[in-house]
Amino acid sequence: MLNIVLFGPPGAGKGTQAQRMMDATGLPQVSTGDMLRAAVKAQSDVGLEAKNYMDAGALVPDQVIIDLIKDRMKEDDAKGGVMFDGFPRTVPQAEALAEIVDVSIVLAIDVPDERIVERICGRFSCGNCGAVYHDSFNPLPETGCTCGAFSEKRRADDTEQTVVARLDAYHQQTAPLADFYQASGLLHRIDGDRDIDLITADMLNALN
Ligand code: ADP
Ligand code: ADP
Repeated sequence: MLNIVLFGPPGAGKGTQAQRMMDATGLPQVSTGDMLRAAVKAQSDVGLEAKNYMDAGALVPDQVIIDLIKDRMKEDDAKGGVMFDGFPRTVPQAEALAEIVDVSIVLAIDVPDERIVERICGRFSCGNCGAVYHDSFNPLPETGCTCGAFSEKRRADDTEQTVVARLDAYHQQTAPLADFYQASGLLHRIDGDRDIDLITADMLNALN
């Protein structure tokens, strides 16, 4: 059983790679960002609590996230392993995860800060299936999304102003996790400043 952690700054390509690796590995993508956005849309208690943090580009409190993950990991499709995307993001989250599953490998996607703004400000997703695109680097084909739709959805927090706060949160609270996983021999670094397909190939190689 494989439990993969996709690690990296906002805009590193975690979601893009998770979508590509889903077919190859058969593992579901568990994205805390997607779960939180669904909670905000549904105006659930979790959503109401998380919204202000997300709008400000700050991390949502650990206990909210840990409770979400505990519930998610009880679902049937998680029993054979998952790909965590955007979780854990703090040392307490990583410690909580270790109590729930054995992490098999941490794939850390390295992308320099100066690339992050252009990646995030050009990001959009298919409003129908959620596939991730980019205005310049991964545009919607003229024939539309692979699912057949033509609708583009942009995130409220994908602005230049919020990216600065999100990168700050990454460096202060999330980057130290690399040492945590390095110490347990689980960290595998991948150069994320390259063609999307080359990165996917490296990631799949790292699993063998
Ligand atoms: P994350 O999940 O880490 O926040 P995404 O997968 O959403 O990152 O990618 C952020 C943006 O950058 C998206 O618009 C995506 O299309 C684009 N992108 C992802 N990987 C690459 C890459 N290797 N080169 C150029 N652009 C990329
Ligand atoms: P990105 O990878 O582009 O930063 P995500 O979709 O992973 O975006 O996260 C969006 C927002 O949701 C974050 O800025 C943060 O407010 C919140 N969030 C997502 N995952 C976590 C987490 N594991 N811990 C704390 N906050 C989180």
